[in-house]
Amino acid sequence: MKILYTTVAILPTAAAFSSFYGTQSRRHCSPSSSLQPEQLPFSTVVLSSSFVKESSVDFDVNTGTIDSDSVATVAIPQQQQQQSAFQREEEQKRSYLDDGFVFGLEGSGLDRPKGKVSQLVVEGDSLETTNWQRAVVWGTLLGHAGFLTTAFVEMLQVNHGNVGWTMLQSVLLIVSSWILADFGSGVLHWSVDNYGNGRTPIMGGIIAAFQGHHSAPWTITERGFENNVYKLCVPFGIATMGLLSYLTGPFATFFLTVFCVLEILSQEFHKWSHMTKSQTPNWVDRLQQVGLTIGRKPHAQHHLAPYDGNYCIISGVCNPMLDQSGFFRRLEHMVYKMNGVESNAWKLDTKLKERTLQGNYKLID
Ligand SMILES: [Zn+2]
Ligand SMILES: [Zn+2]
Repeated sequence: MKILYTTVAILPTAAAFSSFYGTQSRRHCSPSSSLQPEQLPFSTVVLSSSFVKESSVDFDVNTGTIDSDSVATVAIPQQQQQQSAFQREEEQKRSYLDDGFVFGLEGSGLDRPKGKVSQLVVEGDSLETTNWQRAVVWGTLLGHAGFLTTAFVEMLQVNHGNVGWTMLQSVLLIVSSWILADFGSGVLHWSVDNYGNGRTPIMGGIIAAFQGHHSAPWTITERGFENNVYKLCVPFGIATMGLLSYLTGPFATFFLTVFCVLEILSQEFHKWSHMTKSQTPNWVDRLQQVGLTIGRKPHAQHHLAPYDGNYCIISGVCNPMLDQSGFFRRLEHMVYKMNGVESNAWKLDTKLKERTLQGNYKLID
């Protein structure tokens, strides 16, 4: 059990790891009141300029013209104009790799397209499934099948060859792992949605993919299976399972292998929840109906800014309990108290931040 707890702890550690890199982003997201003029948005710089003298502007309502003399009084110094133009250019150049970049935040330079349009937001990303991705995914799943079979045989030995009892134990392990994996997918999703950026070591690719998904939610439906899940084969792959299997016994290995396979498949379950019924086979609809995989409606709730709830994407069974108890707000408050890093959800919704800091962790429907 000690090892099991260690494994579960890997996920929150990822959040803490990411939050370290988020520390720098805090500097870019201070309230406007504390910003220097050169940090203010373009329009604010213009309006706050001491050169604006509204009372001296003569606007002729009949002709719709402004007195040419008064135009001179609202002129912006050339240096300031250049500075503002430079700033606009800089804002447009900011990418998901930069500190403080939040997908969906105004000025991120990335607008969410209207309708079901797929859009690639991460550099080097492609919708095409490569042979390398196929090899990584099927190699990993084959390896995990090996861990599972070995663990089952060893469980059988422990049970002195009692097949029925071993089968029952296996079912219980699969069910409990399915529930814990859903919780794990929520913690992972929350951490990568809210902290870090594309340059964060190890998790950077996953962070960029998850955060970019909010700006281009339909893109996932265009991906093939291997293209969609291969990134998760790194944290939940053979190296991780090899170590865990070495450190634990057959029962924990069985449980953890199911856990890792489900975390890898979570992106595929997630993809199905974005597809229409006409795009998925009947058995996928049935899996969603019985609650084994995340449904379309519950996941659609996550896609409402500021993306502050319904993080679990395996079955979604843990979502109501986690959201109603304010679990993620508590974690965000703890992270903020530890190192002052704000979650992206707070940056997108300052009222959510205020409520959380007041200890009001409930989500408003
Ligand atoms: Zn998300
Ligand atoms: Zn989604």
